Amino acid sequence: MKVWVNDRLVDESEAKISVFDHGVLYGDGVFEGIRVYNGKIFEFEAHIKRLYESARAIRLNIFMSPDEIVEATKRTVEANNVIDGYIRMVVTRGIGTLGLNPFICENSTIFIIADNIQLYPEELYEKGMKIISATTVRNHPLAIPPQVKSLNYLNNILAKIEALDYNVPEAIMYNHEGFVAEATGDNVFIVRNNIIYTPPVQAGSLPGITRTVVINLAKKEGLEVIEMNLTRFDLYVADEFFLTGTAAEVIGIVEIDNRTIGDGKPGPVTKLLRDRFFEYAHGKGRER
Ligand code: PMP
Repeated sequence: MKVWVNDRLVDESEAKISVFDHGVLYGDGVFEGIRVYNGKIFEFEAHIKRLYESARAIRLNIFMSPDEIVEATKRTVEANNVIDGYIRMVVTRGIGTLGLNPFICENSTIFIIADNIQLYPEELYEKGMKIISATTVRNHPLAIPPQVKSLNYLNNILAKIEALDYNVPEAIMYNHEGFVAEATGDNVFIVRNNIIYTPPVQAGSLPGITRTVVINLAKKEGLEVIEMNLTRFDLYVADEFFLTGTAAEVIGIVEIDNRTIGDGKPGPVTKLLRDRFFEYAHGKGRER
């Protein structure tokens, strides 16, 4: 595999960064996870915009221009013959000293990996996923803005550990006020009386690219989508419940904290949006 590191493609074995990189020392950096469908980079512009906005918000100067990053990404995808896969794009503060001071780091570090993707098994999409509520609270929005896709994932990782301890793949994270924020790597949606609800970004959810695509697809179907604070109770009594994210796409939730959602199977709105998402991403319908 070839990996883009700073200004060129190198062999995987040479793709290394310094132990003095503040991305490693402090998780000081930002990243994106992007899908490739049929050789095309999905929602590329939106991902690039989010990357640069994340960086701007934390005063991280990306030494490449958006056009240069786009070009480097395309070259990385091509060099690895990725047709259907996943891109991880990371920008760290760069090499500094052992102190926190980010301004000592002269140049950001950039690396881009284009690889295959580990997907949930198809059966999980058909049957739906069981999850739990995590006790780990999502970052306070006044500490790290939820719009910043930073390299600090420790609270999400702690919530993921809670999920894995319960033998489920995902956990819902609540914010400091007890409202639903998001899952550890996905956004949250519920359906009640044919209306779709999702927490607002200010509740502590990353403005997911998949979330935006799904909201637009739902509206195209004539469905109403409302951004509103949701409680644990709202999840428990939802008719349908699903998560969205770059890797998971649209996946139905059928149980949370031992409460069955709806009739215990992914519901019609979830299935419709999963199908519409597939068509949007692949430019064609799903073969059954
Ligand atoms: N929330 C978190 C914490 C995430 O890491 C992600 C991305 N994996 C998402 C939501 C979903 O965002 P996107 O649709 O842009 O992948």
